[in-house]
Amino acid sequence: MIDKLGIYGNAKQICSPYFNERPDNVDVSLLVIHCISLPEGIYGGKQIEHLFTGCLDCNEHKSFEDLKGLEVSAHCVIRRDGTIEQYVPFSKRAWHAGVSCFDGVEACNDYSIGIELEGTDKSVYTQAQYLTLAKVSDALINQYPLLTKQRIIGHSGIAPGRKNDPGYLFNWSYYLSLLR
Ligand SMILES: [Zn+2]
Repeated sequence: MIDKLGIYGNAKQICSPYFNERPDNVDVSLLVIHCISLPEGIYGGKQIEHLFTGCLDCNEHKSFEDLKGLEVSAHCVIRRDGTIEQYVPFSKRAWHAGVSCFDGVEACNDYSIGIELEGTDKSVYTQAQYLTLAKVSDALINQYPLLTKQRIIGHSGIAPGRKNDPGYLFNWSYYLSLLR
C-alpha cells in the first residue's frame, strides 16, 4: 500500500514544493497528528491544498494575512469525509512540525510523518476520519520498523505552549483502539 518512495496508494496525489531530503541515516520513527482548516472551521474548500502547494491567495480572507510567505506542508491531509490526500512522499521531509522536540530529540520533521485532519483544535472529528487515519497509521507502522504505536503523538505534544492541535476533542483511546 506504501511503495518504496513512500507513496500511499489510497491517497489522491497532489505535489507540494515544500519538502526536502531527510538527513542521512535518519529513519522514520514518529507520527505526528495535526489539524487544519482554512478559514478555521470551514471545511471542504481548496484553501488547504492551495496553502500546501504555494498558491493560496492570502487576500482571500483576513485570517490568511498571517500565512503570507509561509512555506509549510504535511505528508497527508484527511478530509471530513475520510478521503486522504498526499502532498509529500513519506520518504521525504515535509515541513509540518516547526520547532519541536520528542523524547529529547529536536527537529521532529527530520524523522517524522505529519498527518493533518481537516478540523479545528476545538471540534470533534468524524468517524470517517478516524477510520482513514487508523488505516494509514497501520500501513505506516507496517512500512517503517522504528515507528510504533507508542511513537504517535499530537503536534501539541512536541511543541507544547506553541501548538494545541489536534485538540482536546481528538479521541486518542478510540483512535489507538482501531490500530491493528
Ligand atoms: Zn500542527
